[in-house]
Amino acid sequence: MSSRAEKGPITRPSDRSRGRVLLIATDNRTQFVDAFSMRGIDVFGVANGTAAVVSLTRTRPQLIIADASTPGLRIKELAKMLAQSEDGIPLLLVGSEPSTVEMRRAAMTEGAFDYFALPDEIELLIERTQQLVLLRQKIDLLRADADLDSLTGLANRRRFRVALSREVERWRRYRVPCALLMLDIDHLKSINDRFGHPAGDVVIRQIAQTLKEVSRDNDTAARLGGEEFALVLAGVDMQKAVAAGARLRAVLGAKRVEGIGTVTVSIGVAGCPESATSERALYSASDEALYVSKNAGRDRVSVAPPLQEKLPGV
Ligand code: GH3
Ligand code: MG
Ligand code: MG
Repeated sequence: MSSRAEKGPITRPSDRSRGRVLLIATDNRTQFVDAFSMRGIDVFGVANGTAAVVSLTRTRPQLIIADASTPGLRIKELAKMLAQSEDGIPLLLVGSEPSTVEMRRAAMTEGAFDYFALPDEIELLIERTQQLVLLRQKIDLLRADADLDSLTGLANRRRFRVALSREVERWRRYRVPCALLMLDIDHLKSINDRFGHPAGDVVIRQIAQTLKEVSRDNDTAARLGGEEFALVLAGVDMQKAVAAGARLRAVLGAKRVEGIGTVTVSIGVAGCPESATSERALYSASDEALYVSKNAGRDRVSVAPPLQEKLPGV
């Protein structure tokens, strides 16, 4: 059973293995929070539905527990919103009414997963919470894998798109710049022809490894497919992006792939806002710059032209 309530903080330092539950209730229910905390689950408390919606993005809970009697809380709407969201966070209801079959059915009809009577069923609620949190953690792991490229472990095209749109959005909202580097391995086809396809895979992996090493925490290194890569640089202006491209080319060019020798890459650099201010235009600008590098003889970095130069009459 739960320990005596201590007047500790409702939130604790985040730890990835611990569960996160958002509790919507008018009081903090300290005892309730402690009982969960002892079982590896952090409870974040909010007092109403509106605060819950705000808190969702901040605390990223794996489960929501709502006191059905919270004034102004519309369970059906909340359940519908959760079911439609990409995360599909489950909702459990609690209250002081006994958990009759009718109460549980009503909860399920409204879109919640179940109803528990408090304080009598706190242990049962914790058991169910642990099950749902574990399930959620497994889904999150699977999802993280689904966003990775299987050959290199880099982000795949899907995650790349999310990262690129997030960074361009940061420019739109907060005027934080970003840049996109696109890379294509030079003459991989002839490497495959000479040394075999598995050797070509080794080249791809080694380049991916270097991309990981040079990118910072907020950057996203991705394999877009085949022998094409991208690096989304967060909070970086054009000058720094060009320097990063040059450094990357130098690092890659200085490495030898065992049994093959040196492998070069062609790089295109585009910056937001210098080259483009939309996700699609930034992608095209970087891609075009990459093809300038290819056409100019490969093993080089090309920079997309400034935005003004493309506008007639400016
Ligand atoms: P370029 O310098 O113009 O980029 O020449 P390239 O040969 O690298 O480019 P091209 O577009 O003509 O051909 C791409 C080559 O990349 C051919 C394809 O077999 C190879 N490739 C694509 N994906 C993979 C892969 O996963 N593994 C291996 N080993 N090769 C791949
Ligand atoms: Mg290519
Ligand atoms: Mg190529």
